Amino acid sequence: MKRLIGLLLLGPLVLGVQAQRPRKIFISVDLEGISGVVQPAQLGPDGFEYQRAREWMTGEVNAAIAGIRAGGPAEILVCDSHGNAQSILIDKLPDDVKIVRGFPRPLEMMQGIDDTFTAAVFIGYHASEWTADAVRGHTISSARLLGIKLNGAEVSEGIFNAALAGHFGVPVAFVSGDAQAVAQLQKVIPTAEGVVVKEPYGYHSAQTVTPARGQALIRDGLTRAMGKLASLRPYRVTAPINLEVGFKLTIDAERAAYVPGLSRADAHNVKGTFRDMPEVTKLLQVLTDFSTP
Ligand SMILES: [Zn+2]
Repeated sequence: MKRLIGLLLLGPLVLGVQAQRPRKIFISVDLEGISGVVQPAQLGPDGFEYQRAREWMTGEVNAAIAGIRAGGPAEILVCDSHGNAQSILIDKLPDDVKIVRGFPRPLEMMQGIDDTFTAAVFIGYHASEWTADAVRGHTISSARLLGIKLNGAEVSEGIFNAALAGHFGVPVAFVSGDAQAVAQLQKVIPTAEGVVVKEPYGYHSAQTVTPARGQALIRDGLTRAMGKLASLRPYRVTAPINLEVGFKLTIDAERAAYVPGLSRADAHNVKGTFRDMPEVTKLLQVLTDFSTP
């Protein structure tokens, strides 16, 4: 009799587990918006503190994963998206996540996203080129670009990548970075949970929390974000998309205007209309990769 009751109870439980597939969460990770990062000393293999910054970055990714999974199981894809895209210490991540590494790749900072994901999460993000007093504020290429406009509106990498996720119907649940990066994204997507790990003084200075504190804030922030997944909506830009790209060098604008579909708006800017966000993302990678004159 006891055994029979057990079986009766087990039946619906097993069905319930099968019906509820784990959430799929996409994590895009940059380095400029990680706790403690303020200068090139932390941003590339030649910097004296890069190896430490990789540990802080990896710590924030792990904190995000812990926060996501506090609310239940989740399939996770981590997209390493800074510099050479090989900064995250992949042997320090849980062994059931997958990692996107290396450039170039068609969807750049969002490679691997598709319509099966429940939400996108941005860790270590920074503000756009046109943001004053933002740590390492730039858009896609600090060396080459003055900025990017989608349908007339200047975008940060966060807003651009939100639009790319939105193309696949995936909403943005969370962003961490300095105060400017978080404010810039939340202005466009107020439902995204935000965690500020640095208050910038300028391009190369900030008041920052410690890596441990940043990780605790991110873990708690992701737990909050997972609690409101049902209320999120994808951020979509109207297509076809009017793209404007500003270049620091006039010769880059000159060469960009050789690309069919792009024309010169003025010395530093080109414009054109393109089908959708994946097309724009691929094009921008070509436009930021001209040989140095
Ligand atoms: Zn970036």
